[in-house]
Amino acid sequence: MKFDLSDDQAAIRDAVRDFAQGVVAPQAAAIDHENRFPGDLVRQAAELDLLGIVIPSEYSGAGLDHICFALLIEELAAVSGTLAVIVDVHTSVGSEPILHFGSEEQKHRYLPRLARGEILGAFALSEPDYGSDAAHLVASARSVPGGYRLSGTKTFITNVGEAGLYIVMARLDGEPGAGGISAFLVESDMAGVRCGEPMHKMGLRGSSTGELVLDNVEVPEQNLLGHRGEGFKIAMRALDSGRIGISAQAVGLARGALDLATSYSAERRQFGQAISRFEGIQFMVADLATAIDASRLMTWEAAAACDAGRPFTQLAAMAKLMSTDTAMRVTTDAVQILGGYGYIKEFPAERYMRDAKATQIYEGTNQIQRVVIARELLKRG
Ligand SMILES: Cc1cc2nc3c(=O)[nH]c(=O)nc-3n(C[C@H](O)[C@H](O)[C@H](O)COP(=O)(O)OP(=O)(O)OC[C@H]3O[C@@H](n4cnc5c(N)ncnc54)[C@H](O)[C@@H]3O)c2cc1C
Repeated sequence: MKFDLSDDQAAIRDAVRDFAQGVVAPQAAAIDHENRFPGDLVRQAAELDLLGIVIPSEYSGAGLDHICFALLIEELAAVSGTLAVIVDVHTSVGSEPILHFGSEEQKHRYLPRLARGEILGAFALSEPDYGSDAAHLVASARSVPGGYRLSGTKTFITNVGEAGLYIVMARLDGEPGAGGISAFLVESDMAGVRCGEPMHKMGLRGSSTGELVLDNVEVPEQNLLGHRGEGFKIAMRALDSGRIGISAQAVGLARGALDLATSYSAERRQFGQAISRFEGIQFMVADLATAIDASRLMTWEAAAACDAGRPFTQLAAMAKLMSTDTAMRVTTDAVQILGGYGYIKEFPAERYMRDAKATQIYEGTNQIQRVVIARELLKRG
């Protein structure tokens, strides 16, 4: 077992770190404050070939592995959870399903544009009445001559209004259960595609989140992704690798918050000395650093299993559970270490904490991660 990064992996980490620290970090507070979608940063990320990191080079991607993907997302999240989630959703659940389930024609039609950042990808599973219980979703697809007609409302969709392509899960011809769901490639400019008002979120402000309304959208036959009835399977496979990204995002947020807290504690003086000299603070940062390292290793273990073609559903769920709970704990304690200054917007501690909360909720809440882990364990046991 090797814990060292390969040359490619180290190069990606260093390049993204330079971009994140040099270009993204100075804008992160303003993006949050103004709730502004960072289109310029997304474009710059595309110019650095960061939007198709796991897409093979034959489809214009960088052809790198999921450790590189995790490094990319961690480095971005360490300075901006917002940019991290935009890139993460685009890359994993917004593009990867085409790689795994698309026809060769679909791959050539969409992956190069996604990899080059000409269009952003998005993933539309959740509905107003069906979140965790996605197998019962009600958005409908009807077979019509030449294709399908889609209707329904998706909600909480990341990159909504910014994406050029939505991977939409809908129930085909009223067939019941998870096996009645199919996946469709829906372009943003197809007639009948509408985006709702942006949702005003606690954190990850600047990333767009909201409803995607499908009003009798005519989708051609060739835009069925995978086979009829395979949509739920496609969604679950997408979420498995998506959780590697969310786990990495949580590690990045936690690392950014801990870096802030440790440097602040070395500067801030109370009772005649730096607060970092108090054992109460030292034990806190020691515990936080330990939890972050454990989370990163679990993220990389899931990524390595994914790349090796081994089952990784349980590993990804465990990594997501561990890392996102860690992120919430670290960011909350970082606010505590900054004291009153942690609670005001002059310092990014409170932003890290607001951003971290979402990671425990999306791509399956942490209760659902436990359901997944237990199911995988008991299946084998
Ligand atoms: C910022 C953000 C971005 C998002 N982006 C996307 C996106 O791009 N695409 C997309 O499709 N969705 C997206 N989502 C939706 C997200 O995946 C759902 O919010 C999530 O799956 C939970 O669904 P829900 O909100 O309907 O909560 P519910 O399913 O109603 O759950 C409410 C509570 O009940 C608990 N619960 C539910 N079932 C169980 C159970 N069996 N056992 C124990 N507890 C349970 C949950 O854990 C939660 O605490 C996003 C959400 C957010 C907040």
